[in-house]
Amino acid sequence: MSYVHRRQMFHAGLVSLANFVIGEPLTSEAKAETRRGIFDAHLHIPSDNGENFQWYKVTKNMPEFVAYLDRCGVRRGVISSSWSNKAKTPDDYRNGNREVVKYVEQYKGRFRGSCVITPFRIDEALHEIETCAKQFGFVWVGECCNYMTGYKYETPEWTEVMNLVTRLNLVIQIHANTSEMQYLADKFPDTTIVFPHPGANLNDISARITIVAKHKNTHLELSGSGHERVGIVEKAVQEIGADRVLYGSDFTINEPSGVIMRVKNAFLTPQEREKILFRNLERLLAGAGPGRARQSKNT
Ligand SMILES: [Zn+2]
Repeated sequence: MSYVHRRQMFHAGLVSLANFVIGEPLTSEAKAETRRGIFDAHLHIPSDNGENFQWYKVTKNMPEFVAYLDRCGVRRGVISSSWSNKAKTPDDYRNGNREVVKYVEQYKGRFRGSCVITPFRIDEALHEIETCAKQFGFVWVGECCNYMTGYKYETPEWTEVMNLVTRLNLVIQIHANTSEMQYLADKFPDTTIVFPHPGANLNDISARITIVAKHKNTHLELSGSGHERVGIVEKAVQEIGADRVLYGSDFTINEPSGVIMRVKNAFLTPQEREKILFRNLERLLAGAGPGRARQSKNT
């Protein structure tokens, strides 16, 4: 047996051993989509006070939450606290935001923190957004869910929230019905807004995609209902462009891998899939924050 032949056999043995240990090599397309890790723009952690949006609780605490994300292939995400969304007092959202700080630190590199407030005591809400941005390094506010505690977006208080978010160059993620979405997109053209949920029916989905398509400062995030209708992800990319469509799951409420599978199976290029699954969110986070130069969002 020649030296070269022996070397080839040795090399082949190593390759097959590696394949046995780590599985079959990924296709080049799959490599492109997963090498940086899917990045989820919409995660609600199970709170330390027991608040958890899951309807029937199977992931009750942070280790179970993270283990389920592992199962779905979600390695990174933006997390917010359920405690903050259901806040009856400013102390509630402050406690929720502090647990987010704790878990961002504990799972270093895996999660980015998001600040949630309610606007009822507006001075305290503004102060909390500023604290989260300047003290804790959060560049994301939301998911803001007005229906959970009964506030409105068309108010002077919410305008103050939006103005501060704009001044600090933060991203704000807002759960809004279609008319609220139209109002926010028209009124705040300089604010970077992420609207979750394509929509519940075809009329709504079409209207919501049109609003995001027309407002370059806004983004459509795919969690909730709408993405599961085959063709809607493609329609969103065609009308909005792949740069402003984001993967998000709304876990612990919804299943993370459902959205991922639709994006993976959609009639899109590998580059478009990469943008949706992680690149757009990376870009938004990298460009946000009080220290970053503000760019014109509407050009
Ligand atoms: Zn949500």
